Amino acid sequence: MQRFLADEQATLALGAELAKACPDALIQLHLEGELGAGKTTLTRGFLRALGHEGKVKSPTYTLVEHYQLQQRPLYHFDLYRVSDPGELEFLGLDDYLCDNAICLIEWPQRGSEYLPEADLVIRLSYQKQARQAEIVPLTERGKQICGKLHN
Ligand code: ADP
Ligand code: MG
Repeated sequence: MQRFLADEQATLALGAELAKACPDALIQLHLEGELGAGKTTLTRGFLRALGHEGKVKSPTYTLVEHYQLQQRPLYHFDLYRVSDPGELEFLGLDDYLCDNAICLIEWPQRGSEYLPEADLVIRLSYQKQARQAEIVPLTERGKQICGKLHN
């Protein structure tokens, strides 16, 4: 599925749409794309749609930010600084992957085999001043989410 994102508002809106489409289950979304492509912006739209009103910090240095939303925990990862996927062993990833948590992972390529399979991959790319999103479901749950997005 492709989506043209004309401006920052459109990226925020896609994040919100994805958030509302997530079923009450463990969900893993991978966010791919170059620096500045809009991964953190999309995450901000996602978090706001689930009631988070504060800031959304980029977890570039901390690797992960935790948000306790009304209904469920959300973990926002940014693995940009991970140089060896083995570093993730110490992050205790399994602790995050339980119940109905949502994981949004920027730079999932840097985690490679230490990350479980994503339900959905969102690939953001530059389209002149704007952005393009490619949304690829990899699991049944991912397909379920995709099916709720409007075309
Ligand atoms: P990343 O996390 O991928 O490195 P950020 O979300 O931090 O990227 O930054 C993206 C930048 O691009 C922000 O300055 C944001 O305002 C801008 N931006 C986001 N979406 C769009 C869009 N659809 N069109 C143009 N600019 C956008
Ligand atoms: Mg980012």
